[in-house]
Amino acid sequence: MCGIVGVVGNKNTTDILLQGLEKLEYRGYDSAGIYVTSGVNRFKLIKAVGRISDLRAKIGIDISGSAGIGHTRWATHGKPTVDNAHPHLSQSGRFVLVHNGVIENFVALREKYLADVKLAGETDTEIAVNLIAKLVERDNLSTQEAFQKALSLISGSFAFALMDTTDMGTIYVAKRKSPLLIGLGEDYNMVCSDAMAMIRETNQFLEIHDDEMVILRKDELKILTITGAEVVRKPFTAELDLSDIGKGTFPFYMLKEINDQPTVIRTLLQKYTNGTGEMMIDEAILADILASDQLYVVAAGTSENAGWASKQTFEQLTGIPVSVHTASEFAYNFPILSKKPFFIYLTQSGETADLRQVLVETNRLGLNALTITNVPGSTLSREAAHTLLLHAGPEIAVASTKAYTAQVAMMLILAKAIGVKLSNPQAVTLDLVRELGIAATAIAAIVDMKEVIDDLTYQYTEDTRNCFYIGRGSDYHVAKEASLKMKEISYIQCEGFAAGELKHGTIALIEEGTPVIALISDLRLAPHTRGNLMEVYSRGANTLVIATEACAIDEDEIVIPNVHPLLTPLVTVIPTQLLAYYASLHRGLDVDKPRNLAKSVTVE
Ligand code: GLU
Repeated sequence: MCGIVGVVGNKNTTDILLQGLEKLEYRGYDSAGIYVTSGVNRFKLIKAVGRISDLRAKIGIDISGSAGIGHTRWATHGKPTVDNAHPHLSQSGRFVLVHNGVIENFVALREKYLADVKLAGETDTEIAVNLIAKLVERDNLSTQEAFQKALSLISGSFAFALMDTTDMGTIYVAKRKSPLLIGLGEDYNMVCSDAMAMIRETNQFLEIHDDEMVILRKDELKILTITGAEVVRKPFTAELDLSDIGKGTFPFYMLKEINDQPTVIRTLLQKYTNGTGEMMIDEAILADILASDQLYVVAAGTSENAGWASKQTFEQLTGIPVSVHTASEFAYNFPILSKKPFFIYLTQSGETADLRQVLVETNRLGLNALTITNVPGSTLSREAAHTLLLHAGPEIAVASTKAYTAQVAMMLILAKAIGVKLSNPQAVTLDLVRELGIAATAIAAIVDMKEVIDDLTYQYTEDTRNCFYIGRGSDYHVAKEASLKMKEISYIQCEGFAAGELKHGTIALIEEGTPVIALISDLRLAPHTRGNLMEVYSRGANTLVIATEACAIDEDEIVIPNVHPLLTPLVTVIPTQLLAYYASLHRGLDVDKPRNLAKSVTVE
């Protein structure tokens, strides 16, 4: 969600900004812009609605300069228009600002400080840039002082990069709740929303913490707290490989990432098991979980579905109760906690604002927590006591696939490690290395069925406006993830239901031709789900079955290999990812960049 880039002290600024914004495209955005300066009051400010390619087309002939800032906007306040796109200029034309986040008190600030200022657009960001300008003009403050004062007046979330058009040598940077990093070049410096944006330029980065301000110059970098005290911090090396970011021979990142999943599982096994099949998890994590009486999994979107898909398995292997929670609800309605709660934050990006809201509170309560994320050095990873990395490689398609399977596999590995410590008989006898290996092979086999799935997708979803997934037990949780994927990228209204639940109301929506897709991977539950399928078939539904070999009957359309019963959510999800992918493709949509969605959801 939103991307910020900035460069100071490099004559290739325009190129670095545009390439950086392209690397941030995966985060989701609806408009973009850059500001490039080549001297005092000599600058170009170009903005466009749509893609970076639209911005490039507007830039046309080369614009050169040695400092600048750029932005991809995911609109929160005001429509995605050129006027609302960032960078924003103050009315005086002196200050220029890019912003990620939401300024909650923008109305109060406008009324108090900016009654006489004419605004060009509708964003909260314009209030911030004009506030800074006002504090400079009215109170005779320096840019740094005005920025600092503005930060203390603003409530809400922000990552800011500010420039003064009379000074091409400085970028003023600050953050609260929204992600931002400093990138260290040779004889120049950068700022970016994540390391991926600047990994072509450097692998040396520096964290910025909340309520810190950074003064960034070509050969100088000063980190200050909100009260002005200087902070000393060492850079870190981002372990990202540029080749990880390409999509190789695949037409879309999503298809590449679906294909990556067997490798992702094998990599997790390499990272978290030893040669003799034992789970290798940091003892401090195990000790904290073993000392707890309940696990609270807090997540959002696909990660929440991964939490649900892991709950029952985790409980079976450990005997510890697990509850799964929607982060945005939990944040403002803390339930009564158990005596010794332990929190697990599941987040692909490690930046999800809704989760962070909960983490800040659990940290305040002195509760240790674990973040399971794909992004090393991300905010939730830094701020939780423990981290387990998913090692899935960058996930670029906005609709998550491999991060889901990695989360489910990681939860299994963790559950097995704890279960063994507790001598849980199921955990002790489960040969997880072998079973995950079998699941990885099964995933590869399902991906190989993609042509069949492509055909079926066409038959079932060609002109439908809505669609249902049903399942029982873990198939129900996968049905929720399957329907989310379908909605995200095909825009077909799709709901995932507990198979037995449809008849309690939603069956009223079934009409002639409505696709209903059943997931069947549990022999014990299969007859009941088939019964529910008959109920909708009798009312005109166009039914399709995805079943494991053990549960399949001759008529089933998609039959997938058997895996250990605790591992089925890893495989039943794969055909549903492909169904969503092809439904999107057949509709001529942008599979990797669906409308309105952001990859890393950094606003509440
Ligand atoms: N709230 C700002 C706007 O709507 C920033 C949005 C963003 O994070 O991209 O322009």
